[in-house]
Amino acid sequence: MSVPCRSRPRPWCAPRTRSRRSAGSGGFRRRRDGVASGRAARPLIRRTVVIQRKEKIQYIDMRRRIAVIGGGPAGLTCARVLHRHGHPVTVLERDPAPDARPQGGTLDLHESLGQRALGKAGLLAEFQTLSRPEGQAMRILDTDGAVLRDWRPRPDDRANPEIDRGQLRDLLLGPLDVQWGRGVTEVVPGTQDGALVRFADGRQEAFDLVVGADGAWSRVRPAVSPVTPHYTGVTSVETSLDDVDTRHPDLARLIGDGSMAVYGVNRSLVAQRNSGGHVKVHAQFRAPLDWHTNLEANTGTGTDAGLDLADAEAVRSSLLTLFDGWAAPVLDLLRHGTAFVHRPLHVLPVSHTWAHVPGVTLLGDAAHLMPPLGVGANLAMLEGAELAESIVAASGPDDLDEAVRAFEEQMWVRAGRWAEITTAGLERLVSSDPAEAIALFDEVQPS
Ligand SMILES: Cc1cc2nc3c(=O)[nH]c(=O)nc-3n(C[C@H](O)[C@H](O)[C@H](O)COP(=O)(O)OP(=O)(O)OC[C@H]3O[C@@H](n4cnc5c(N)ncnc54)[C@H](O)[C@@H]3O)c2cc1C
Repeated sequence: MSVPCRSRPRPWCAPRTRSRRSAGSGGFRRRRDGVASGRAARPLIRRTVVIQRKEKIQYIDMRRRIAVIGGGPAGLTCARVLHRHGHPVTVLERDPAPDARPQGGTLDLHESLGQRALGKAGLLAEFQTLSRPEGQAMRILDTDGAVLRDWRPRPDDRANPEIDRGQLRDLLLGPLDVQWGRGVTEVVPGTQDGALVRFADGRQEAFDLVVGADGAWSRVRPAVSPVTPHYTGVTSVETSLDDVDTRHPDLARLIGDGSMAVYGVNRSLVAQRNSGGHVKVHAQFRAPLDWHTNLEANTGTGTDAGLDLADAEAVRSSLLTLFDGWAAPVLDLLRHGTAFVHRPLHVLPVSHTWAHVPGVTLLGDAAHLMPPLGVGANLAMLEGAELAESIVAASGPDDLDEAVRAFEEQMWVRAGRWAEITTAGLERLVSSDPAEAIALFDEVQPS
């Protein structure tokens, strides 16, 4: 498998490839029926502002109402680049507050994808300060605990440094004024007022362009495509360890500075270091989606009784049975894990496209959910940045629609390529022949 652009699929699921202040609906007047008013009722905004950057003069139509649904990597990058260009944008996020839930593990941002997007947002220098180049290190063990591969980056290697998701989100949020607690239920394109966004609280608001950056289970997607994600056949159960260097020094040494992966028959265990001594562990295995309802039938372990996924001790015990026979230090990752999160891996079809719908588009996982092999957030961010630049460059309403159409075509080609790579990668990483995973690592990892 060739992997372009010095990106490497991550071996934990991976081919890792090597190679607050938005304008909000600012100035828009709300009608009594809850629908934000149309063009005529937006006199508070000058029609056009002229921004001079270096030799380039940009005319920005301030009347264009752009809504970004979702404050993940895709949505925030899009909003941040629009903001950088002085273009108003409304970011609508379902989470009630920025700290409403933990943001999850660590992301490696590739030079040619995520880092490029951060460059477009003017955030590359800050990223370089926050990120962990040493986190690119990767170690592969066999199920007896013998080290098979131990790759470490050069000190100046900035190809795929790691950053915690929470840090990345704070970096992107910066001056953006996200509207929290605004869960979208539906988008209706083509109304007289534009694309209508309906919210869980019963309100609705119209925009000239709605950008669906609301992830795997997008509520915007049905406005352009009837397709929904399907199960890959691989489930991941995630756990974590805190303060690993002090509390579990042996495990800290085993994991190293970056990631450590062990591949067995149809299962794998991957541990990834985050900042501050936090480690995320992913136990992955092939099983039916309802594996936990009958362990004996579905995994060949345990009994035919159902497993309560909310019972951490029961899940731990079930995983220890599933990975029985693996080296004790490797299983300690499960023994010391604090809580267990069930994540069946779903994807959209490899070449998911749709007939262009004026006024609505999709980005990131909403457009092309793929196996989590270290590229989804990277693509999401680059798409967010590119769409924002296309919006800024388009001057009239027809230009805006053409710009979005052209953006979609470009996104589909690149995302389709990566969806193929990551789908093939998942097949090899969680397979009946663990040697496939090592072979994949050797193909994508520089020696
Ligand atoms: C375990 C794991 C590890 C991964 N590691 C990597 C990695 O190292 N590198 C990498 O590039 N990718 C990685 N990925 C993939 C990456 O997480 C996703 O591709 C990426 O988060 C997609 O970004 P997004 O902004 O499109 O969607 P999301 O990150 O899902 O963000 C969507 C946002 O929309 C909000 N939202 C959802 N529904 C609504 C609604 N109805 N109304 C309003 N808001 C809504 C959500 O609250 C969320 O804030 C990993 C994935 C997993 C599961």
